[in-house]
Amino acid sequence: MEKKISAEAYAELQECVHCGFCLPNCPTYRLLGIEADSPRGRIRLMKAYADGEIGITEGLVEHLSLCLVCRNCETVCPSGVEFGLAMDATRQEIERNTKRSISERIARWLLLSFTFSSLARVRLALKLSKLPGANYAMKKLGLANFVKPMQSLPNQGEYLDRKKKTYRAEGNTRYKVAMLAGCIMSTALAEIDRATIRVLNKNGCDVILPTQQVCCGALHQHEGALDRTLELAKKNIKAFSKHDFDALVVNSAGCGATMKEYGKLLAKDPNWSEQAQEFSGKVRDLSEFLAEIPINDELGEVKITVTYQDPCHLAHGQRIEQQPRKILQMIPGLKLVEMKSPDQCCGAAGIYSMTHPDVAERILDTRMLEITETGASAIVASNPPCYIQYSTAKNKSMKVYHIAELLDMSYRNLSESSLS
Ligand code: SF4
Ligand code: SF4
Repeated sequence: MEKKISAEAYAELQECVHCGFCLPNCPTYRLLGIEADSPRGRIRLMKAYADGEIGITEGLVEHLSLCLVCRNCETVCPSGVEFGLAMDATRQEIERNTKRSISERIARWLLLSFTFSSLARVRLALKLSKLPGANYAMKKLGLANFVKPMQSLPNQGEYLDRKKKTYRAEGNTRYKVAMLAGCIMSTALAEIDRATIRVLNKNGCDVILPTQQVCCGALHQHEGALDRTLELAKKNIKAFSKHDFDALVVNSAGCGATMKEYGKLLAKDPNWSEQAQEFSGKVRDLSEFLAEIPINDELGEVKITVTYQDPCHLAHGQRIEQQPRKILQMIPGLKLVEMKSPDQCCGAAGIYSMTHPDVAERILDTRMLEITETGASAIVASNPPCYIQYSTAKNKSMKVYHIAELLDMSYRNLSESSLS
């Protein structure tokens, strides 16, 4: 019998042996204690839907949409179930076959199709969100939750200059790297992009920023708009392929995870499969890249005690855990203290903190308790949604840094107070 999701995704559901090893690692199960909000329960629901045993019920949509797609369940699964693949495919199917209200449709179109399709439009949207009356207009459009976190961020100055195509290495050029500017990184968090470029320049890298690059498509992938992800992937492959580079460095864990999957996502497209695979093979998280090269160790002292939050799409999506810690420990004066479960999701999860603000806040509260116990004065969160999520936490004395900011501070011999 024909299944309602792709054969690859269905095969993942079949791999589950219902052992339950993943349950204690699932943030929504830990918080809500409901089987249908656990990986095993969601797998049962997805399979029942794929087999045609159940339709698109309110319960199905609710339990699946409550999933953070953090993929923590994948890391511990003895059967190797690729949960994220199955969830993305099922959400796509549900998205195609669900009738949403007009306001919901407008909100999704504005967010996924209009804004997060072009970096220029992200810039425009962020500027509009700061105008007087923006809150009222967003409320009317059902988008109030989407602008609140952005408005709470400290002003990071000018957006990244997108006309400048190359930032030259300090001293001799050792590597040519391309960089993903990022929708949020190059705008609301532009200082992190500038810090990333300075760190790469310090490490002998010429940094190329292709002007025609677009959003990576991660948001769309996890919101059931996989077709849009593929369109964006093709645009990025085209934009970056105009340049010659050794690696494509990404300072956002979620974007990096999706870009590493372009090869897999376009595997069946004969016009793109080869290029997509080559592209994905060059993608490196910033910490991954720096751990691979002989890093410039002329680092100045940064006296600070930090705790490191593993971004889900770095630890579980890309299996990168040791590299960021190794780099942080190279910074003289920096003390790294571990929290109990650093690889638990902070509740940000792309736009989850905006679509499910109550659950996201409760998850964040549990994270902050663990973090406070460490005695650290700052959190290192190298992914835009996590960075924004922790920046909006109630404990305002806790600072938040991206790993690029701390490295940049160290190379420039700046004290911690001069960066904040
Ligand atoms: S650990 Fe893997 S096999 Fe076991 S219930 Fe979870 S998803 Fe299924
Ligand atoms: S992806 Fe995360 S939230 Fe979703 S079922 Fe797996 S562990 Fe739970």
